[in-house]
Amino acid sequence: MADLAVDAGHDTLVAAVDWGGTWIRVAAVSGGRIVRKDRRAKPQSLAEQYATVADMVRQTTAHLAQPPAAVGVGLAGVIQEGIVGTAHNLGFTDGADVAAALRPHLPLPTYLLNDAQATALGVAARWPHGTTAVLTMGTGIGGAVVKDGALDPGLGAAGDFGHMVIAVDGPRCWCGGTGCLEQLVSGRTLAEAARALAEAGLSPLLEARARSGRVLHAGDLQDAARDGDGRAAEILGRSAVAFSAGMRTIVATHDPHRIILAGATLAPDTWFGEAVRKHWDLIRPRWARTELHHVAEDGDAALLGAASYARNKFTAAQPGL
Ligand SMILES: [Zn+2]
Repeated sequence: MADLAVDAGHDTLVAAVDWGGTWIRVAAVSGGRIVRKDRRAKPQSLAEQYATVADMVRQTTAHLAQPPAAVGVGLAGVIQEGIVGTAHNLGFTDGADVAAALRPHLPLPTYLLNDAQATALGVAARWPHGTTAVLTMGTGIGGAVVKDGALDPGLGAAGDFGHMVIAVDGPRCWCGGTGCLEQLVSGRTLAEAARALAEAGLSPLLEARARSGRVLHAGDLQDAARDGDGRAAEILGRSAVAFSAGMRTIVATHDPHRIILAGATLAPDTWFGEAVRKHWDLIRPRWARTELHHVAEDGDAALLGAASYARNKFTAAQPGL
């Protein structure tokens, strides 16, 4: 994990929490490295979740050389200035102050960020200088803008690239917009396209896989395209055009030193990843010097990113520093 030395040279111990829909993961992080970690299934009630997070932080940081100075919490929801905007799948109501609710259980400075931002911050750690835009593609599309190793979230949601408008007359998005990038292309849309081709009997390979009981996902659509399936190739090609248009908007708004494409679907040796790069070379602004990089998924990136965020916030809040 040497490449992810977010806090190299700073050995303040911080606790990181990755508060997900299924699992809660906690790590003790020092010097940009995870020194201990734990994972538990997320309890149902919010009260139990708070108690579990606090207990996990205590257990994970117990008997280390120093107590944790702060806690960084990444969770699946929009976070603005520490307040949860939307995080319904965890059971939070809009406007929840998670740090304040945790305080009676865990009296430590606690800093919140979106889980995709936490992952992006962890991923971007190997490029500590300049502006890095991280564009992640999993079930949805997410990301973050990182400047000189620190998150630049604006009021909170900057870098939520799934909501760049690509087609003004496109499908409605849960965010209230229409034609957002993640409504046009995401792991979810590619999986749905694979299933639709299989159900309509339009792809022998996908039909055979579906018949065998396999739940089709984006990778199956890529396999079909590689196998010479013209319909799968056309869907992926169209999706790559939409995705590249999103990258153009990122360059127009941030002109970053680099865009980091994160996620298995975007690997350069995949059908989709190759199509994105080819189309990007065709439509990139003539003046654009932004480099493209790819990183595979890394389960620890969210924890390292949350730790980095907490340490930076904590350090900035100390008088005289
Ligand atoms: Zn949207």
